[in-house]
Amino acid sequence: MTTIALITGGNRGIGLATARLLGARGMTVLVGARSADRGSRAERALREGGADAWALPLDVTDEKSVRLAAEWIDTEYGRLDVLVNNAGIARGDGTGEPSATRLSTMRTVYETNVFGVVVVTNAMLPLLHRSAAPRIVNVSSEVGSITSMMDPTSPLWPMASVPYPSSKAALNMVTAMYAKELRDTGIKVNAANPGYCATDLNRHSGFRTAEQGAEVSVYLATLPDDGPTGVLWGPLWRADGTGPDCVLPW
Ligand code: NAP
Repeated sequence: MTTIALITGGNRGIGLATARLLGARGMTVLVGARSADRGSRAERALREGGADAWALPLDVTDEKSVRLAAEWIDTEYGRLDVLVNNAGIARGDGTGEPSATRLSTMRTVYETNVFGVVVVTNAMLPLLHRSAAPRIVNVSSEVGSITSMMDPTSPLWPMASVPYPSSKAALNMVTAMYAKELRDTGIKVNAANPGYCATDLNRHSGFRTAEQGAEVSVYLATLPDDGPTGVLWGPLWRADGTGPDCVLPW
């Protein structure tokens, strides 16, 4: 039976790379995209690469669009095996420092990075419960790790910003709490740290490729039944480079 995977924000960057890698493993990939045009373009590109890909209109900040997406998946497949909560945005104000932060910016970032994940997850859970090996991957970041951000020896130390890092810290707790609730159901819920990848999000300043970032999500999406749940996983960024993927400190 084909594995059905939904990737939110799957039309570009790490999400598109995740769809490509999961498609190459033979999964049916549902590319969540808030723009019909960008979704169709991604669907076409993935199909040209041999994947069974379908664009699915999905704006994670729009509850109606999330509900319609869940209804479509229910009608077409009756279940969902993999949910990758990948859609995310980064915003800052002025100097980017905490003292320059506007509440409206924080609200915008949280709508997508935190509330969007909760809305999508709750809508998809009934479908995930019908899967034989359900996996939820929340695409977070090492900047959501309070331990890393407060480590003076970490390359992340100079960064002091509120909206994006705190949204990923909140997402880490969201991940842990879902993992706790679902621990006896077979649904594994983990947070992925893609590492610093060159995408539109950071004007392509990252030193890893989107594919390298996507591999972290793929690993968590394809965990065996005895794999972990409730962890933040990925490469740890240190002054001498990025280490191997591992469980990261919260
Ligand atoms: P990206 O290239 O900017 O792509 C972001 C994706 O999210 C796009 O497909 C975008 O769709 C989608 N999106 C944004 N808001 C949405 C919404 N309301 N509903 C549905 N889709 C929405 O960024 P990326 O670097 O690939 O980031 C993917 C994830 O990785 C994010 O969660 C990000 O925080 C995380 N991450 C990235 C890095 C990095 O170094 N790049 C590091 C750590 C974590 P549109 O095309 O319509 O805008």
